[in-house]
Amino acid sequence: MTDQPARPPQPPAEGSASPAAFSRRLLLVHAHPDDESINNGLTMAKYAAEGALVTLVTCTLGEEGEVIPPELAALAPDRDDTLGPYRAGELAAAMAALGVTDHRFLGGPGRYRDSGMMGAPQNDRPDAFWQAPLDEAAGELVAVIREVRPQVLVTYDPNGGYGHPDHIQAHRVAMRGAELAARADFRPELGRAHEIAKIYWNCNPRSVVEEGFARLRAAGHSFPGVATVDDVPGVVPDSEVTASLAGDPEYAVAKSAAMRAHYTQIAVDGPFFALSNDLGQPLFRTEHYQLVHGVPGAAAGVREDDLFAGIGEMVGMEESARIEEAAE
Ligand SMILES: [Zn+2]
Repeated sequence: MTDQPARPPQPPAEGSASPAAFSRRLLLVHAHPDDESINNGLTMAKYAAEGALVTLVTCTLGEEGEVIPPELAALAPDRDDTLGPYRAGELAAAMAALGVTDHRFLGGPGRYRDSGMMGAPQNDRPDAFWQAPLDEAAGELVAVIREVRPQVLVTYDPNGGYGHPDHIQAHRVAMRGAELAARADFRPELGRAHEIAKIYWNCNPRSVVEEGFARLRAAGHSFPGVATVDDVPGVVPDSEVTASLAGDPEYAVAKSAAMRAHYTQIAVDGPFFALSNDLGQPLFRTEHYQLVHGVPGAAAGVREDDLFAGIGEMVGMEESARIEEAAE
């Protein structure tokens, strides 16, 4: 089975690029190019298509990734070491597939280098993201938060989903950045303090992951092997999931296209994909979250189906008032 080429969602219709012109603003913080599409591709496509401002901050260029296509093997860090800039291009193509126009690298492209897997010698490089002083890296994110003023932040759980040092560090930087951005006494030169209303961590409900693997085994696929539930990041008991997003099937098509744009890192086969370990796993067409800060927009025990639930109107009014003030 092959995927149809995606019809990318249309970029937001607003005429102005100013964040204040968007009533809903979503910020995502990720470690490497490709993490955003795997974890949140559907969510990003949905909100971009609905006219929200979707801002992606990627912390490294993913220089230490393994290269899947043999014809691109020379990009690898132990050869030409040009994988980082190449992956920046893949990320740009993925963002075009998702309809996301605001994507940035923390501190600018190449400021922080991919740290490699936990325990690798690359962890100790002085330019590795793992070595970055937390408040310095978080300060870079504070500048983005105070500019974009998101109501919702999405990042990983404290283990980074699966223990990669850059994912753990991305989690720390996102959480610390959110805290410092709200403090008026922290680096006022970075802009007016801003408190993010809701913070979510990515997660995958165990029952959905198990069902996905059952589907994969039953369907047949082109991968040399099959991953296990333990290979999937952020698997949690179903009861810990507080929000689940699906929406228009077009968003899942866009997610698949975005994942395919990360050609050096991901092999997509219909509703399944594999990373450089060649192990097939399900490509999820519903994305799940755990609310860890803020007020739930659904009744107790009911999952939200919108990350902005409960905050949209209030914040929209506040911003409209500010825009009117500015226009006077
Ligand atoms: Zn990653």
